[in-house]
Amino acid sequence: MSFPKDKPQQISVLDLKEQYKQVGAQIEESVLAVLRSGNYILGQNVARLEEAVAQLCGAKYAVAVANGTDALILALWAANIGPGDEVITPPFTFAATAEAIALRGARAVFVDVDPATFNLDPSLVEAAITPRTKAIIPVHLYGQPADMDPILAIADRWGLKVIEDNAQAIGATYKGRPTGSLGDMSCISFYPTKNLGAAGDAGMVVTSDDALSQRLKVLRAHGCRKRYYHDELGVNSRLDEIQAAVLLVKLPHLSAWNERRNQVARWYARAFKNSPQIVLPQPMLHTGHVFHQYTIRIDGGPGCSPVSRDEVMSQLSLRGIGSMCYYPVPLHLQTAFSALGYRRGDFPVSEMLARDVLSLPMYPELTEEQVNRVASNLNDIVSSRLAAGAMAEIPLSTGM
Ligand SMILES: *Cc1c(COP(=O)(O)O)cnc(C)c1O
Repeated sequence: MSFPKDKPQQISVLDLKEQYKQVGAQIEESVLAVLRSGNYILGQNVARLEEAVAQLCGAKYAVAVANGTDALILALWAANIGPGDEVITPPFTFAATAEAIALRGARAVFVDVDPATFNLDPSLVEAAITPRTKAIIPVHLYGQPADMDPILAIADRWGLKVIEDNAQAIGATYKGRPTGSLGDMSCISFYPTKNLGAAGDAGMVVTSDDALSQRLKVLRAHGCRKRYYHDELGVNSRLDEIQAAVLLVKLPHLSAWNERRNQVARWYARAFKNSPQIVLPQPMLHTGHVFHQYTIRIDGGPGCSPVSRDEVMSQLSLRGIGSMCYYPVPLHLQTAFSALGYRRGDFPVSEMLARDVLSLPMYPELTEEQVNRVASNLNDIVSSRLAAGAMAEIPLSTGM
């Protein structure tokens, strides 16, 4: 295995400063213009951003809110989902997906994911439907759309709303259609590390439903249709002009950035093609993946000890390479959701993924040389661990 003996540069799992070098001058100009305008919240920049994002998602409306979590809460609220209702969602996602359901007073009903795509397994959804089920929230995890057609067919059959958690997949497509246009509503996060990131918190709900878009606008601003006339309770979840200005500068670059992420993924796939122990992300047929994350797992295979994910992460770190685990604990085993009454063993695929997955450096500015360096180090770590494991005759892994 060849990697430089002289001290190589660190490769972090994400580097936002590289992107800022490209767009920083324009962002600073736009932000300064906002500061000088005296107009700071829900102004022209927000309106332009809403229009542009709705168009990108192939939807009629977009309603800007304070962050992606609020987008989920407000989408559920606009659909009148609350106490006594159940919402189906995967346990292998960021906590906000199920947190939003719980904060509305509804119950998150978990359904396991597909081990190849990491997304909600449509074949398991119907068994979880009860008379109280009101909606399904599929998550487009790591930038790959969930398998929406069967999910939409089930929702149709049972009269359920579909709210896409599109926090990680802006710009992705499913059978030629953009994520965000597939369900009744779709929730975007512009958290700085997302594929389209603000310089702080920001979010959006996208929909083509007139009534839902009107309701969302009322709910995000204290339940007002007319200023200081409160028809119902709402929240303060307005978006500010500075964040919208930053996002408007970045938005035109999104498709090129997403294409670069795909290029990085192709470089990784080439570098790992002779490493059967490294299980690569598997894009589904007909999906335009946007690789928010490049997430792998190590499979020791028969006769070899599994290499622990945490050990691989610390070995990579010793070699100056960053990595992350999204997410180490599935939601049904999180203390915050213990009241739901789930147990270990309830969602075996999510539990296996939480134990084994590992995300490698992924951002548009990575070079081919950097990707190859990450890959050769990982190949080296895995093959030396497998050799050591085989020598010690560690018992066969029982897999998941
Ligand atoms: C980031 C994220 C959210 C929450 O978005 P915030 O803007 O951080 O509130 C929700 N769901 C998923 C899957 C996410 O990745």
